[in-house]
Amino acid sequence: MDAFTANWNYPTQMKVGVERSKDLPDICRMVGIQAPLFVTDPGLAELPMTSALIQRCERQGHRVSLFSNIKSNPNGENVIAGVQAFRAGRHDGVIAFGGGSALDAAKAIALMVGQDRALWDFEDVGDNWLRVNAQGIAPTIAVPTTAGTGSEVGRASVITDEKSQVKRIIFHPDMLPNVVILDPNLTVGLPPHITAATGMDALSHALEALCAPFYHPMAEGIAIEAIRLVKENLPLAVAQGDHLEARMNMLVASSMGATAFQRGLGAMHALAHALGAMYDKHHGLLNAVLMPYVLKANRVAIEKPIARLANYLQLSSSDFDGFYAWVIELRQQLEIPHTFADIGLDDQLANLVGQKAYQDPSAGGNPIQFSEAEYTKLFLNALHGA
Ligand SMILES: [Zn+2]
Repeated sequence: MDAFTANWNYPTQMKVGVERSKDLPDICRMVGIQAPLFVTDPGLAELPMTSALIQRCERQGHRVSLFSNIKSNPNGENVIAGVQAFRAGRHDGVIAFGGGSALDAAKAIALMVGQDRALWDFEDVGDNWLRVNAQGIAPTIAVPTTAGTGSEVGRASVITDEKSQVKRIIFHPDMLPNVVILDPNLTVGLPPHITAATGMDALSHALEALCAPFYHPMAEGIAIEAIRLVKENLPLAVAQGDHLEARMNMLVASSMGATAFQRGLGAMHALAHALGAMYDKHHGLLNAVLMPYVLKANRVAIEKPIARLANYLQLSSSDFDGFYAWVIELRQQLEIPHTFADIGLDDQLANLVGQKAYQDPSAGGNPIQFSEAEYTKLFLNALHGA
């Protein structure tokens, strides 16, 4: 497994390899953190691998506090509570440990410890990010324990505004963690359905980035290789959770998907954000259900890039239909439900779903600009399997 051990310098410093998380105390020192606030979710906080890592830091002289008051869709109150914990414990940096929720919350906490304004003042609208006091952002080390969101290499956090039931994107370029550790050992304990849903999120990032209508060949190149890694490793990681090579490659695919989506996301994420804020369902699962319906709706605009992708993936049929068939087959193999009805949603709030998806910032990256009514229709298609 030493074959994977590597240090990468883009998009940020990345320490890659089996058991690299054991380097955490040294990496804290490297970025000048003496007293980290260790931010994770309540489930992970209970796990032996988490306490082992914290003890490892403490044995090497770091003063660590654990903060795990985070919802599965983290909200503004979680961030405020984290900032209070950071200040009360006089911490000087953040360790972001977990899946997307913990990483997003931790990055937002690291941002907010140095600001005087309210969290929503930094929503990614116009040039709001210029309001940030960049010097105040605490140094952050991100250690993902799922392979999907890629939040460890992102410069934003998705935080739920509970009052208005929408997910808001909080953005600043310096929210990109200073160092990322990709250690497949941390993901071997994930149950198959979480591995599947998070892996499909990574795929949806790369796929929407590839289909976004903007000029960014670098992101396109990263996207197609990420999709190849998903194709060759996700079924294996789901079927055989302790397969370190598959787990390693999925962590990398996840970071690559999130690197690629600076090119844009699209209708999958516009709808998944709307539905996630309204129903508290797993973000990756929502994208996984939506994927074929959004592909079909976008078909006229994406046949060329999808054919190039199908060719690169060496699918038996190198065109849109070949790729679509592969997506359907992959979802079946991973036991992803085919419709939203299968996961308990109904059509009562369909118009509101369409309205919120239309307003979501991700909608701007979709190759076709859908109307509110078209988003409602797309949701209904995914609800009923049309
Ligand atoms: Zn996503």
